[in-house]
Amino acid sequence: VSATNSPSSSGGEIIENVVIIGSGPAGYTAAIYAARANLKPVVFEGYQMGGVPGGQLMTTTEVENFPGFPDGITGPDLMERMRKQAERWGAELYPEDVESLSLKTAPFTVQSSERKVKCHSIIYATGATARRLRLPREEEFWSRGISACAICDGASPLFKGQVLAVVGGGDTATEEAIYLTKYARHVHLLVRRDQLRASKAMQDRVINNPNITVHYNTETVDVLSNTKGQMSGILLRRIDTGEETELEAKGLFYGIGHSPNSQLLEGQVELDSSGYVLVQEGSSNTSVEGVFAAGDVQDHEWRQAVTAAGSGCIAALSAERYLTSNN
Ligand code: FAD
Repeated sequence: VSATNSPSSSGGEIIENVVIIGSGPAGYTAAIYAARANLKPVVFEGYQMGGVPGGQLMTTTEVENFPGFPDGITGPDLMERMRKQAERWGAELYPEDVESLSLKTAPFTVQSSERKVKCHSIIYATGATARRLRLPREEEFWSRGISACAICDGASPLFKGQVLAVVGGGDTATEEAIYLTKYARHVHLLVRRDQLRASKAMQDRVINNPNITVHYNTETVDVLSNTKGQMSGILLRRIDTGEETELEAKGLFYGIGHSPNSQLLEGQVELDSSGYVLVQEGSSNTSVEGVFAAGDVQDHEWRQAVTAAGSGCIAALSAERYLTSNN
């Protein structure tokens, strides 16, 4: 294992120090730290979203809460800067999806769509995907009325002072609804079942909040627009009677959960019951020595760019320490 210089070789085969999988804030931050530690990281950026690297923030406009940008920055601009910074320090970037991993014995094997790479350590930062309802007009209004993150978008001028709706009945949806009452004129919570699934404490907070109206037995059918093409409402259907109604709302927030992109680790690394990678508390260590996880794939709670970046930093420093101690 070569912790502070070139990748090692065994029987003529090159073994990389560290492979980073993912190109969101976690992956690029890990790449910056690993590259600056002279580990010459190899980054598989992923080929999702039409081959554009950069992760979830590539699908948003303004990011107003990433420190260092007092006037905000667009998601794609922020990610391009992170990418450049990783490249500047010598990270090797491949815009490919990893298709399989073999973690049984070290060195590990990473198979992408284009190449097979052996490595001493892995930083797994493949993010999570917000579940979508797949409404007929969802693509048209994504980031223009429909959002999957109240903390990210609630204070935006598009939603401030407006009537908004949140779909879902669990902890995520109830938390989003309560959070949005800080900015919205009123919040409607659209629940498919005849009751909330959230914890009792969250249920009480929602039900006792005069700025939230809960609609039970309610299916969200589509969003509606005005003559200017702006989102103006939501088409709802009562599940028990089939009756359709229109609800006035300028925004629709999805609170129906996220799916961690942890499929490649199934059966090899411990995951929780929802598929999030289990890491030792306060670290990025997974159940397999030498495999570290960072960002949304191991975080069902905070899911922010800055927390993902922070955990990417921890993962890179942990990998460096692991490589040094196994040298
Ligand atoms: P991601 O950003 O999800 O990146 C994961 C990466 O892994 C992607 O590049 C993907 O292509 C890659 N990948 C997946 N599978 C593979 C594979 N098999 N092989 C190779 N690569 C793979 N947070 C904020 O702090 N502020 C905001 O304003 C904000 N706005 C948001 C707006 C929207 C619309 C969304 C969806 C999220 C927003 N977030 C915001 C949340 C933030 O984007 C995430 O918390 C953050 O991107 C998580 O970073 P990550 O690196 O863990 O994963």
